[in-house]
Amino acid sequence: MVASKDGDDVMSDFEEDAEFKSCWSGPTVRITVGSNAQVFVIHKDILIEASPVFKAMLSAGMIEQQTNEITLPEDPARAFNILMVWAYGRNPPACTGDEDSVVDAILTWKMADKYAMPQLQNVLIDELKEHWKQFHFYPRYLSWAVRNLPDTSELYKFLFDQLTYKLANRPYSYQLAPQDSTLAASGLQCQEKRVRQLENLLSMGEDSAKLFWAVQNLEKGKGSPARLEGCHYHVHADGEECPQEDSTSTEPEQSGADI
Ligand SMILES: [Zn+2]
Repeated sequence: MVASKDGDDVMSDFEEDAEFKSCWSGPTVRITVGSNAQVFVIHKDILIEASPVFKAMLSAGMIEQQTNEITLPEDPARAFNILMVWAYGRNPPACTGDEDSVVDAILTWKMADKYAMPQLQNVLIDELKEHWKQFHFYPRYLSWAVRNLPDTSELYKFLFDQLTYKLANRPYSYQLAPQDSTLAASGLQCQEKRVRQLENLLSMGEDSAKLFWAVQNLEKGKGSPARLEGCHYHVHADGEECPQEDSTSTEPEQSGADI
């Protein structure tokens, strides 16, 4: 300890460490995730704060509380990875026009639902909205939702509404291009993918009839669901909504790059 001549402990600020707490210290939990059994190590306090379900798992009396080990064989590791990044820094993944990142966001939404993390679900919905303001919607996302989500879930509703909107307003994106199309080869390939995926979706029974009638009955001039501002398709307790951002303009965003 270095003290000044008059007795003041001038260097103490540099040396006093007792009050310091870091989220990177403290006990950890070992979590084995997915069919490949990938191992993640996460700080217990962070996990408990992020999810009431993990909090319950790690509470007194549970085996996980004694071992500090959790096994989640049915969850995808790619989604758990995003959940973990969120738990530490509240940083959502950005869907940057890359279809893989859309799949990641969708899988993570479902996982966040399982572990009761509505805030993460809502930022993922906002990311997906941003993505579909600019990029094509691929029908396989709704096919996945038909198999994996209840039709009452907010993500199912969003995917259903978005495809309904696209089919009603941009039907040519889901039809094979004419012979004399000027689309580049990569564009033609993507278009063909959407056509095949739509055929697959339409073979899925009840949901395809529902989609047909939704497209048929969609109100003329109704905007893209991806452009709905605020808490549309968010998960909230009754009466709750996201804190309002300070906005000087209440004008709806112009249609811009919607394709
Ligand atoms: Zn909200």
